[in-house]
Amino acid sequence: MITKVIAVANQKGGVAKTTTAINLSACLAELGKRVLLVDLDPQGNATSGIGISKHKLIRCIYDVLINDVSLDQVIQKTDQKNLKVVPARIQLAGAEIELVSQISREGKLRCALEDVKGNYDFIFIDCPPSLGLLTLNALTAATDVLIPIQCEYYALEGLTLLMKTLESVRKHLNPDLNILGALLTMFDARTNLAIQVVDEVKGYFPQKVFKTIISRNVRLSEAPSHGKPINSYDTRSRGAEVYRELAKEVLERG
Ligand code: ADP
Ligand code: MG
Repeated sequence: MITKVIAVANQKGGVAKTTTAINLSACLAELGKRVLLVDLDPQGNATSGIGISKHKLIRCIYDVLINDVSLDQVIQKTDQKNLKVVPARIQLAGAEIELVSQISREGKLRCALEDVKGNYDFIFIDCPPSLGLLTLNALTAATDVLIPIQCEYYALEGLTLLMKTLESVRKHLNPDLNILGALLTMFDARTNLAIQVVDEVKGYFPQKVFKTIISRNVRLSEAPSHGKPINSYDTRSRGAEVYRELAKEVLERG
């Protein structure tokens, strides 16, 4: 199997990028796939959400991007079988500026991943809520991009800019970058608005919207504070069910 490198990207915050990166990683690992989760957000929510305590870290993805430390030295085991993580700390915020003056500044992550790629079936990159150099590194390293979209009033806002960015990345940095799909998140079937948003997003991304829609589920919002993905925190919850369904759909699309 050729490694799929999936950037989970949307410059909007709070659309479930991190929730999706963690839980989709964990559900694919549960299916026996070898998965690496790369935290590329200085907030480090994917790092803590998977159970790594940030203050104990000596190195993080910052050292890979800026100090040429190899990924091998930064990859951490998790409590989940088949799932490893490259952690991030707040220090990573500095990389956004420090990268500006570096040679092939958009290609740092891609280059670092080359050495370890063969050990994994899937590599997920949890992007920060911006379209700066960190996200450009993710999009340059990626084979695919997954775009979470929250089912709310301004759902489509900002998507034009994101699509322009993807176009420009294809043209200059990564011609083969594929849109794996748009993922509708935090769906609440009780509201007419949510149903309307689903239709709008399907119109915007014909053929590209995942059949699986992530419903609102309180267990999904509780899990990160326990440092566990949903399938381990509450294995029979609706949240675990939908992310397992998404994992199967991702395998089908592969
Ligand atoms: P992003 O990484 O895009 O900023 P997060 O994954 O951190 O977004 O999600 C934003 C907030 O919404 C978090 O508090 C998260 O726990 C919560 N959340 C995400 N998905 C769901 C869901 N399906 N149901 C309930 N809460 C969710
Ligand atoms: Mg996040």
